[in-house]
This record gives sequence, structure tokens and C-alpha cells, in this order.
Amino acid sequence: MSNLVEIRDLNIRFTGERTVHAVNDISLTLGEGEVLGLLGESGSGKSVTLRALMRLLPKKRTQISGTVKVLGRDVLAMNDEQLAAFRGQTVSMIFQEPALALDPVYTIGHQIAESVMRHEGKSQKEGMARALEMLEVVRIPSARRRLDAYPHEMSGGMRQRAMIALALACKPKILLADEPTTALDATVQIQILLLLRELQREFGMSVIFVTHDIGVAIEICDRVAVMYAGQIVEQGRLRDIVRSPVHPYAKGLLASTVHGAKRGQRLETIPGTPPSLDKAPASCSFAPRCSYAQPRCSERLPPNVQVSPDRTARCVLAERATAVG
Ligand code: SF4
Ligand code: MG
Repeated sequence: MSNLVEIRDLNIRFTGERTVHAVNDISLTLGEGEVLGLLGESGSGKSVTLRALMRLLPKKRTQISGTVKVLGRDVLAMNDEQLAAFRGQTVSMIFQEPALALDPVYTIGHQIAESVMRHEGKSQKEGMARALEMLEVVRIPSARRRLDAYPHEMSGGMRQRAMIALALACKPKILLADEPTTALDATVQIQILLLLRELQREFGMSVIFVTHDIGVAIEICDRVAVMYAGQIVEQGRLRDIVRSPVHPYAKGLLASTVHGAKRGQRLETIPGTPPSLDKAPASCSFAPRCSYAQPRCSERLPPNVQVSPDRTARCVLAERATAVG
């Protein structure tokens, strides 16, 4: 399986009144037709990583180092013109809040048509035909009538579908999804997850799906990278991590979900709060909250250990295997 996305040693730091080390030395890949989850608490660097991939971070006060390659092309080196072509056609993004993607003053049909005209040089008529096709693809009822609807005239779930239609209108190879179901109630959430999974297969897309909810990751992801304090602490196939998490933070996340709890057992939560990100980590960031912590965990950065061919964990407990960086 060839990699569509390759991120190597990515560091992202925001500077200003205070410095925030938002992403610290992460590496990941996204294969063809794969759904990769970025899983972690808010502030763990998931959304920042996605935004870096789409070059959506403000230039001012953002320092980025490392490599971000999409289809072999260096995203960090693209000029504005290359970026404009790249967004929409190669990579597209959906958000928790459709208002970030949908313009309140234009109808849904107009917005989708506009995007197709801009990216693919199609006519207005062809753009509108694609808009109708896309509203049908995302199963919006009475699609033809909805072409003329404004975002505020739709329910939350339908707006989410309209945003997905807009994101997929130019058939991108990669979809970046930033907590797209978090604001929805449980029934609508599951419908949207099922829809995304179906469309992912139908369009043959690869997806990076950001979520803080391991239950959501279980519904949609093939592989996950568990993030904590701007680092990837465990990465591997979802079913392997769910079955036997290696990193204590991944264990804690699993124990704190309904999926991880046995019937009748109380849900555990991980005591404590994530560290401040004002310094790059020099030891295990999870140590203050970790019930397995040993003196050496606070003395140096734990190595990123290759636990098995498709699994890594950044923890001294995994150290018997081979360190990879
Ligand atoms: Fe816990 Fe140590 Fe592993 Fe960090 S390195 S997660 S403190 S056992
Ligand atoms: Mg976020």
C-alpha cells in the first residue's frame, strides 16, 4: 500500500506572549483507502496537525519544522497558487462547526457549484449539476429543493451533510475530518459516521479523522495515532490498540469509555490534567498522571519503540522492543 501522506519529525510551535509547543516530533503516514484516527484530549495537537497538512496555520507566529508530503509533494514548500489547486482537489477538510466551511449568505447549491467552477473550470450549469449530484450522494432528502436552501434553513445533521457534499464535490483523494460529529446528538452522529465510511469506500478516499472519542474512532478508523501533549504516544491498528493498548495513556482512554468498561463496571477517568506546553518535552509528558511511572520516566524522553511491525509506543514499558527514535 503506497502512502498518500507522509509526515516526518513535525514540530509546530506558536510564538507570541507565550510559546506553545503544540506538536512535538510526530511522524505518521496515511495509506491509500485508509482511515487514520488522531485520537486524544483537546489541546493534544490533533487539529493543529490537520491544519498543518492543509497549510491553514497562520504564517505569523507559527514555526514549523519537519516534512509534510502529500502524494510525494512537499506541502510546506507550496506557493499560494499551488496551495489553491491542492486544497479541494487533492485534500479537503470538514469541521465540527459547519459554519467554518459554509457561507451563510449563499445557498448550498451556489457554494458547491462555485467550488467546482473554481477548481475544475466547469460552467455554472455543470457546477449546479454536480451540486445536485453531491446532495444526493450525501443523502439529503429532496435534494433538488435543497439546492436553494441557505445553511440556516437546515437542521444540524443536514448542514453537516451539506458540508460533506461541499468538501467532496471535487473528489479529493484525501479528506481531513476535524471532530465532524462532536456537536451532533448520538443518533445523528452515528448516521454521519456511517455516511462517511460509505463515502470513503465509494470514492476510494483516504481519511484522517480527528476525535477525542475512542467510541467514534472504533466506528470509523482502521488505524489510530493516540496523541498526548503534542506527541504521538501510540500508533497502530485500531483493533490491536483496543484489544491490548501498550501506552498507559491509551490504556486510560480505553478504560474511560463505555467500550472499555465491562458491564456494571464504573467508567474510569484518568486523574490529573495535561501539562502546559510552554517547553518542548524533555521527559515523559504523561508521567505526572501515570500510575506506572518510574524515576527514569522523568529523567529523559522515553524512546519511540517499535512494538510490532505496525505498532509504535513512546513509553519505557515498551522498551524491550527496538527503539526507532
Ligand atoms: Fe508512564 Fe513512564 Fe510510560 Fe511515561 S514512560 S507512560 S511515565 S511508564
Ligand atoms: Mg481540536
